[in-house]
Amino acid sequence: MGGTRVSALSYAQDNRRRFVEQLDGFLRIPSISALPAHAGDIRRAADWLIDDLRAIGLTTELIPIEGSHPMVYAEWKGAPGRPTVLFYGHYDVQPVDPLDLWERPPFEPVVRDGRILARGAADDKGQVHMHLRAVEALLATRSRLPINLRFVFEGEEESTSIHLADWLAANRERLGADVAVISDSGFFDGNVPAITIGLRGIMYAQIDVVGSPVDLHSGTYGGAVPNPATTLARLIAELKGPDGVITIPRFYDDVRPLTDEDRAAFAALPFDEDAWAAGVGVHGLAGEAGYTTLERKGGRPTLDVNGMWAGFIGEGSKTIIPAHAHAKVSCRLVPDQDPARIFALFRDHVLRIAPPGLAVDVKLLGAGRPTLTPIDHPATRAAARALEATFGRPPLYIREGGSIPVAASFASILGLPVVLLGFTPPADNAHAPNEWMDLSNHEIGIRTIARYWDELASVGRDGLAG
Ligand SMILES: [Zn+2]
Repeated sequence: MGGTRVSALSYAQDNRRRFVEQLDGFLRIPSISALPAHAGDIRRAADWLIDDLRAIGLTTELIPIEGSHPMVYAEWKGAPGRPTVLFYGHYDVQPVDPLDLWERPPFEPVVRDGRILARGAADDKGQVHMHLRAVEALLATRSRLPINLRFVFEGEEESTSIHLADWLAANRERLGADVAVISDSGFFDGNVPAITIGLRGIMYAQIDVVGSPVDLHSGTYGGAVPNPATTLARLIAELKGPDGVITIPRFYDDVRPLTDEDRAAFAALPFDEDAWAAGVGVHGLAGEAGYTTLERKGGRPTLDVNGMWAGFIGEGSKTIIPAHAHAKVSCRLVPDQDPARIFALFRDHVLRIAPPGLAVDVKLLGAGRPTLTPIDHPATRAAARALEATFGRPPLYIREGGSIPVAASFASILGLPVVLLGFTPPADNAHAPNEWMDLSNHEIGIRTIARYWDELASVGRDGLAG
């Protein structure tokens, strides 16, 4: 050895310029998964990753996926007894239209005002690249990683990850890990570091109410037969009280209550409710009594009508009693609600309160599980320590009202706690023209990741298992 031992963190700082040049090369590959004409570019991006992973000392494999783009897999298993991290990222990017709104061609990166502009700079190539550089810095300076690492890089995330769930299920054994880490999200506000701890799930159903085989004359039959549209309206109105509380019995049974720490985390998010409502363009806000707007849209379940139709909806009038009426209704779910159980409760309740004289049917259209890795989970705490040490301030905690199907798959198929550690401000233009990555975040992020692996090593496997 001899001389001073360079730390992984100063290695990352010293090599900053080279890292950015290398990122430029990765961003030049137009790996748009949605467009068949770019299949060759997708393959080039996968090969770029394989070459890079090999060069920094990982074992790699290009895994073909029938009918789609290959999965890039890599691992480093030199820390027996230490935690194993399964990291997920994607190397495909969104299409670039409308091209004329880009300041520069989307695959000719340019550095301006401390940012690198290009398609994929934030979502997700820039963040994938940070993980590769963190491993390079650790292996170059210590010849080993503090933890075991498995990398999974997908090539069809931007075209809805059709094959990922099956692939995860088929490779459950080989993907064994203690925690999954995904860097494909961002911050809540400006450049303040954040960890996304929760995502809501969904139960999506349709109610069909049928009265007669055909529409009936409302003069001849009105007053003598039940009206499916009126009945449907009444059924839906009964699902929620005026206080916004869902009235389906046992609906809230499995809802994990918000802890004091959860509520403090919501309250700590910078949020101007009036400005937000004005931005949305609504005339007022509504929701479950007893919770703030951010709590209601991130930490509590919902029930909403997504569509309703019945009878005559054309211009003018038509005097009928509709033969049938329909509604699509969905519930956003929070941990630990199970979409299958919620559907059963929903269906049974609707059938129970439906009046006689009509045929009512309730069917399931879609389901997705909620995920949560709580603030006090050791893997979240370790990430928070790493962020605070590198960004110089503690992170905010975000609960997304929507879902990230990939994260739900890692949680439900592999049974892993999922830490969503993203590094980009909300204004990063992901999926839009002029996407960018803040280069100082890129550099600090590399150090954060290296530090996070050290933190997880000191938590240990038993510590992570709780
Ligand atoms: Zn992404």
